[in-house]
Amino acid sequence: MSKARILIVDDERLNINVMISILSEDYELVIAKSGEQALKRVAAQAPDLILLDISMPDMDGYTVFERIGEMTGGNKRIPIIFITAMRSPEEEIKGLKMGAVDYITKPFTPSIVEVRVANQIEAKRNRDELERLNRTDALTGIANRRRFDEYIMLQRESIVRSEAALSIIMIDIDHFKQFNDCYGHGAGDDCLKRVATALASKLDRTTDFIARYGGEEFVVILPATDSEGAAQCAERLCEAVAELEIEHDKSGTCGHVTASFGVATLLPEQREVSVEDLLQWADQALYQAKTSGRNQFRISRQG
Ligand code: GH3
Ligand code: MG
Ligand code: MG
Repeated sequence: MSKARILIVDDERLNINVMISILSEDYELVIAKSGEQALKRVAAQAPDLILLDISMPDMDGYTVFERIGEMTGGNKRIPIIFITAMRSPEEEIKGLKMGAVDYITKPFTPSIVEVRVANQIEAKRNRDELERLNRTDALTGIANRRRFDEYIMLQRESIVRSEAALSIIMIDIDHFKQFNDCYGHGAGDDCLKRVATALASKLDRTTDFIARYGGEEFVVILPATDSEGAAQCAERLCEAVAELEIEHDKSGTCGHVTASFGVATLLPEQREVSVEDLLQWADQALYQAKTSGRNQFRISRQG
């Protein structure tokens, strides 16, 4: 496991050096000597924990705390521990009520700093893992519907800025009910895993995305991809499923497992078209692929 990254925000070199001596062996440390610097480091480095000094000359810790919250959509994603020389309970209560996860007072007791930091890093790791599981399909290991919903909304918003087309491909395994009936549910699950892996391996760009949409349905998102590019991708995906050559005697299409594909593309100028519309177009194209004999892709006529 890679080292967790901690951002230390303090205007005094001496305090920073003490923290470095306590934490540098176990963590990757990032240093900021002002609030402004801290905000830049948060955006660029995505720390796992922030140790934030309260009294700093330009922007105090409370203000930095609020600004980080605005930047990251609430302070829950990156835990923040306040660091202060003030021993007043009011200050401590104020910090904790704002949402700081803990409080460390100066002068530092190294063993206390170590334990408090370790506790928060462990809690962050657990939260991250839960978050990941929450967005992953347990059977196939690819993204689930929730993650798809988030990603498609992000892409729908970004095409207004990027002025590039956005394509999606809906995928549905052919005669899968018969596959389960013939080979059993366990073999069905195994087939879903292999198809998911094969499909995912055929996506080239880092922004390309695949999710399990439901039972034996998958969906691919291709940002900055026009209809022609999406059709090429769909053809590749269609071949990838067939090339697995998973036996399917009751297929009715051919002797092995195949899938059908529906492609739809949203152009930047189609501002009134919603994600739901786009999904519907892809679904209609998929239906055409099914009625035209399966094991093929169709492109939506709408987009
Ligand atoms: P078509 O070619 O028209 O798509 O026919 P189909 O049989 O694939 O379609 P239908 O929607 O009638 O059946 C889908 C089947 O997929 C129903 C169910 O048995 C199976 N299925 C859905 N989710 C799972 C799953 O998680 N595991 C397994 N083993 N089977 C699943
Ligand atoms: Mg289906
Ligand atoms: Mg099906």
